Amino acid sequence: MSNKPVALVTGAASGIGQATAERLGREGHAVMLADLNREALEEAVQALGQNGIEAAGEAVNVAEASSVEKLVARCVESFGRLDCLVNSAGINPEQVPLHQYTLEGWQRELSVNLSGSFYTIRYAVPHMLEAGAGAIVNIASIMGAAGSPNSAGYVASKHGVVGLTKTAALDYASQGIRVNAVGPGVIETPMSEPMRNNQQVHDMLMQATPMRRFGKPEDVAALIYFLCSPDAGFITGHYYPVDGGYLVP
Ligand code: NAD
Repeated sequence: MSNKPVALVTGAASGIGQATAERLGREGHAVMLADLNREALEEAVQALGQNGIEAAGEAVNVAEASSVEKLVARCVESFGRLDCLVNSAGINPEQVPLHQYTLEGWQRELSVNLSGSFYTIRYAVPHMLEAGAGAIVNIASIMGAAGSPNSAGYVASKHGVVGLTKTAALDYASQGIRVNAVGPGVIETPMSEPMRNNQQVHDMLMQATPMRRFGKPEDVAALIYFLCSPDAGFITGHYYPVDGGYLVP
């Protein structure tokens, strides 16, 4: 049983999830990192350990309910509690117009980006209810509030994450569990690399970002950390963009 608050972060081997695991760890959490990519996961756990952070890793496919059930059980077994859940695992869209989407691509994007968050919440909440407290942060996207061409599965999944956040917040608002979503704009992670490496797309995205820079994973991790913290104790059910102003115009 850890005497520290315990955070479970999916997609923790890279990008926003990794930065969040590090931030929560630095702020005194024990962290369970979960990811599909075993090798990167091991490296991420090791890196946190070298910085004096209590961390463990569990390989998971968030698109599979049984895999997520095992993950949550392992987290509670290892650390004795679960205070904070961050859903960061996600995949890119197929990048084709809707009628050219493969059925598998559509299903995959919904399974990972939306069902993955449903499953983790589904299995984490009973532990939080028992404790009478918990904070959940779902990583949506600016595409959780706006449309985007050639991204039907991604945009639908991210709007779904915002809806899931609202309904979960209402289900548990009176029982000490807060649920919020964040909406990153373009953040410098491996996921956005293909877009940032395409000069035309890069310039279009930069032009659409009033601050004229892309975000760092740490910019998002700071908001997630705040939403997990007691300072956000009266905040639930909302969606917070962290996007350099992208959604403002
Ligand atoms: P990333 O690719 O750096 O990290 C995503 C991680 O999720 C990877 O380590 C990957 O292995 C893991 N993952 C993928 N499928 C998984 C599965 N089925 N089960 C478990 N783990 C899985 O990407 P990122 O930029 O850090 O993205 C994190 C979240 O932020 C995603 O939900 C993404 O949609 C969202 N987001 C990112 C951006 C951006 O510009 N980077 C913008 C908006 C939203």
